[in-house]
Amino acid sequence: MWRFNLIKEISDKGKWIISSDVAIVIADKYPKAQQHFLVLPKADISSIFELTREHLPLLEELHLLASNIVEVRGLQWKDFKVGFHAEPSLERLHLHVISQDFVSSCLKKKKHWNTYNTELFVPYEVLRDKLKAENSYQRLSPDVIHALLATPLCCNQCDFKPRNLPLLKEHLEQHLQNKSGQNKSVIYTKIETAKDKINKMDAKEKNEHKKEQIIQNIRNELKKKINDKEHILIESDQAVVVKADYPKAQYHFRVVAKADIADVTKLTADHLPLLDHMMDLAVQIMEKQDHVPSRNFRIGFKADPFWDRLNMHVISDDFYSMSMKRIRHWNSFNTELFMPFQQAYIMLSSEGAIEPISEEESEKLKLQVPLHCNQCDFESPLLLSLKAHLYTHWQSKEHERQIKKQTDSIVKLLDEVKLDDNAQPLPSAISEGQSQQEVSTENVYGPPINMMNQANINNPFRGTPPRFGIAAAAPPQRPFVNAPRHQRPGNPFARAPRPQQKVYPYGYAPRPQLADNHFGPPSRPYGIHRGNMQPRGPMPPRFSTAPANTVFASFNQQPRFAPNNPPNQRPRAPKQQQNQRPRAPNPQQNQGPRAPNPQQNQENPPQLTYNPNQTNLIPKHKPTPAANAGQPAAK
Ligand code: AMP
Ligand code: ZN
Repeated sequence: MWRFNLIKEISDKGKWIISSDVAIVIADKYPKAQQHFLVLPKADISSIFELTREHLPLLEELHLLASNIVEVRGLQWKDFKVGFHAEPSLERLHLHVISQDFVSSCLKKKKHWNTYNTELFVPYEVLRDKLKAENSYQRLSPDVIHALLATPLCCNQCDFKPRNLPLLKEHLEQHLQNKSGQNKSVIYTKIETAKDKINKMDAKEKNEHKKEQIIQNIRNELKKKINDKEHILIESDQAVVVKADYPKAQYHFRVVAKADIADVTKLTADHLPLLDHMMDLAVQIMEKQDHVPSRNFRIGFKADPFWDRLNMHVISDDFYSMSMKRIRHWNSFNTELFMPFQQAYIMLSSEGAIEPISEEESEKLKLQVPLHCNQCDFESPLLLSLKAHLYTHWQSKEHERQIKKQTDSIVKLLDEVKLDDNAQPLPSAISEGQSQQEVSTENVYGPPINMMNQANINNPFRGTPPRFGIAAAAPPQRPFVNAPRHQRPGNPFARAPRPQQKVYPYGYAPRPQLADNHFGPPSRPYGIHRGNMQPRGPMPPRFSTAPANTVFASFNQQPRFAPNNPPNQRPRAPKQQQNQRPRAPNPQQNQGPRAPNPQQNQENPPQLTYNPNQTNLIPKHKPTPAANAGQPAAK
């Protein structure tokens, strides 16, 4: 039956122009304008009359695909009408995405015109608001429909009132030609030239063109993710947190803005509250990785972003990942191509804009060698040898984490014994401190680890090439160096200070000197170790005691896209106390203190929804103003 023609149409995947998990875009078979698409849900929803509030997310997805198809075709959103017919003729809910020229041989009847140019056409927003308010959309009465169909013709672009449809069509063609003549960024000219261009292309050019289109499609992926609840770890009204698809470190998330902002260079000072909010979400996702201190995360933007949507990286600084495959991957996080959050924030506050990095400069930075380790002085022209080196850092940190975890559990146990003298320690608590297996379950609180040594054929570490001697790089044997020293006055179980233990300000101790060959094989084919991982003189205190504005001042003196972590100056953080919130980000380490935003209502943090099905992460607490505790206040 003709009523089911659309359902039949979408059963053929070849007709799908773009699709998402829940919806499809096809071309209208009888287009009533130069461009006419239909967006349909995959779910069996027959018409708008079936919709309720519950369908609002779906409706949003249809709308998103509508904007995608316009974009993918290189057209302009403002030239389109997007909505539903109040009295649809075909089954399966469908959203019309139609260009407003209405120049088409299929537009044959006055009825066609009036179904798009009177109240018989229900714009997307109207239907959405109606559902929000009334939870359903009611059919118009036959009388009203009849009256609307009889509405006298009137041009949609000027006041012209033609006597009949042929006159209107002639007139509409005139509008279209005029626009083409203006040779502006009007869709009609664009459509023609794009098509013409493709026709004129040779096979190679066509191939290139196809590639470009595919890339553009990929660039749009991030936008789709915003509506894909499956991928969302944290959601607020303004942004979502998702796991990076190709994580470049063990923990790699993106905070993606919901507003249609292409990238960091499109921000203005008006967006500072949004940045504040995105930072709040970043803090929350870092908190959830409770075995990784926040100082081990970098937060910032790609100065030369690929994705077509503002997104902020929250990435652990191990850069230990199988997806780190190219020099440009490394450089995009470890050169001026990465713009730390604070830098972006300050530039927006002071200059009101962030200038895009030039293509030339960006290309140069992407391929820049040698590659410098972000954790010591090591450098190498080869990514593979840097990766082998990063592995040793990762290994030693992992070892420290294990030791810390074991010590913590013993200390906790001792605490419990102290609180209740009669209490017997739980057997489970004891075994927690002892069992290697249980300790290694710590990762249930984080995303799956990108284990480099897994048996993936793309894994450069598979089989561990002997020339890098990874197998020989044993984890550093310095137990308890980083174990917390819980000194509770009057606690009989408190440990005595270690012999020769120096007292350092801010609670950190420089790393001990390590044997020269500690982190690598005796002969290294590539790369230079300069004083590998040795302490480098006094470390600057983590929090400046100078007035807050000096922190910012020193930042302002940095080059436009300053390297994030000046080698040799990695500040150490004070020991983190148990149960404390992650520390305030370090100004020199990208996660710097934000100037408090007067526009941000700190009493009412945005409502967040958290999808517990997504990961094993356990939601802790909502962001509170305390999240900024310890950050210098900028005036
Ligand atoms: P409506 O009046 O809102 O139900 O619109 C139905 C739309 O589907 C019209 O714009 C038709 O041109 C279009 N249409 C009808 N048959 C097909 C088909 N087989 N494939 C694609 N579009 C179709
Ligand atoms: Zn007109």
